[in-house]
Amino acid sequence: MSVLKLLDVYKTYNPGSHTQVDVLNGVDLEVEEGEIIAVIGPSGVGKSTLLQIVGALDRPTRGQVWIDEKELTRYSDSQLAQLRNKTIGFVFQAHHLLPEFTARENIMMPGMIARGVPKDLERRSSELLEKVGVLDRADHKPNELSGGEQQRIAVARALMNEPRLLLADEPSGNLDHKTADSLHELLWSISRQFKQTLVIVTHNLELADKADRIIELYDGKIKNNLKPG
Ligand code: ADP
Ligand code: MG
Repeated sequence: MSVLKLLDVYKTYNPGSHTQVDVLNGVDLEVEEGEIIAVIGPSGVGKSTLLQIVGALDRPTRGQVWIDEKELTRYSDSQLAQLRNKTIGFVFQAHHLLPEFTARENIMMPGMIARGVPKDLERRSSELLEKVGVLDRADHKPNELSGGEQQRIAVARALMNEPRLLLADEPSGNLDHKTADSLHELLWSISRQFKQTLVIVTHNLELADKADRIIELYDGKIKNNLKPG
């Protein structure tokens, strides 16, 4: 069974007003467990919109979004908030770490929200800090970290509650080339090693080539559904 399924998804911003924008016009997509999907397409085409709908941060105007056996459009806002906490990990272009908390505390936050046992959360945060290669930065605040380190912490935070689905929207967009490469390597190795399903928006075609599938958005639809190679 697929982890994620989109059925005829439409998204219109500001419907009926003079600022109406039809962004998605019938998107169908199915993602299997452990797959890495790269989403590409020109700026403004709707990649972030698509990811936000998949990540339950926004609702489609029409159509269905399934994560496992759950159909999201039937969920209330509070149910969606819970689903985001437990089932989805999101990494954005900007790290969105809380400035007054340490790296470890930021990573533990989704676990605290899910009312995990503090001792377990601490252990898991140590595992994650190690996994993403910044254990020695555990007690640093975000502004004491490099851009690459901040994004590694953001990845660890996204993984805290063992999400079914990891989503990344141009996660290396603010990083230099070398740092971006090493963040991508991290995401790939986590995904491959733990069969972590990953949907990543990227401008980097070299990177997209390493995905299991490339989804190209064009004119509100998926234009190509290419398998590299
Ligand atoms: P991409 O991530 O591919 O660059 P986006 O999904 O951010 O594209 O945006 C797609 C289109 O929808 C753009 O034309 C953008 O201006 C518009 N858009 C995005 N968010 C909103 C919003 N909240 N309200 C109105 N229009 C929006
Ligand atoms: Mg975007």
